[in-house]
Amino acid sequence: MSTQPRIAVVTGASSGIGEATARRLAAEGFHVVLGARRFERIKAVAAEIDGTPLALDVTDAASVAAFVDQIPEANVLVNNAGGAFGLERVDAADEDNWRRMWETNVIGTLRLTKALLPKLIASGNGHVVTITSIAAQEIYDNGAGYTSAKHAQSALHRTLRGEELGKPVRFTEVLPGMVETEFSVVRFEGDAERAANVYQGLVPLVADDVADVIAFAVTRPEHVNLDQIVMKPRAQASATRAHRD
Ligand code: NAP
Repeated sequence: MSTQPRIAVVTGASSGIGEATARRLAAEGFHVVLGARRFERIKAVAAEIDGTPLALDVTDAASVAAFVDQIPEANVLVNNAGGAFGLERVDAADEDNWRRMWETNVIGTLRLTKALLPKLIASGNGHVVTITSIAAQEIYDNGAGYTSAKHAQSALHRTLRGEELGKPVRFTEVLPGMVETEFSVVRFEGDAERAANVYQGLVPLVADDVADVIAFAVTRPEHVNLDQIVMKPRAQASATRAHRD
């Protein structure tokens, strides 16, 4: 058996769930490759965990190709880069917001997975973890741009489970509910007050909670495939129903 550390590639590792996952997988003994657009941030995290920071814009095919070219081998890919932009009714939909959400969450996941899959399989024990959302299972008013992108990202991820059956690669989809990260600040274009209101009166999940579950999934024995993991704060019953004090 190889004594080299296993290699985990985490997209969107500059904040939130991705950063927490990079830190946690490093603590589990992985060598972590961190990708994101904000290079200074991933460089700082990488320095702390002895990882490798690489600039990555998942919406840019050339950036993804350059990123993957610098990764000779990989055991785990965490498709985490993504997010929501805006919150509007369909009859007032902002097409640019829709395009950004589809480009980042759906096409980004497609690009990274397609490019790294041969290396993951060649490792003899590969694993693709995709962070979708409860928005991949539910829809809500004003959220169609995001919920449709997350539904599509989930369909893409789950299709691979069948297509790659028989090969040494596992597929795990993690579907979080409310997690307090930069997610809502990004969704509301920097409006911190509006973002804070999303988590008002309840205890949301934090990025470490999700990282914990990802670490659990990728450290199971290689014959064990956790297909889908839905996780929400205790105070949240669905995308549209939460208890607030
Ligand atoms: P976050 O703190 O805003 O992190 C998003 C990450 O994605 C950042 O590191 C960002 O890095 C990266 N990213 C965005 N666009 C990118 C691009 N074009 N290329 C490369 N990286 C890009 O939010 P988060 O909550 O941790 O979100 C992580 C994932 O969890 C997303 O897929 C999100 O949809 C999902 N999720 C979040 C929640 C929640 O409530 N927070 C719930 C369910 C699912 P740069 O800006 O530096 O590129």
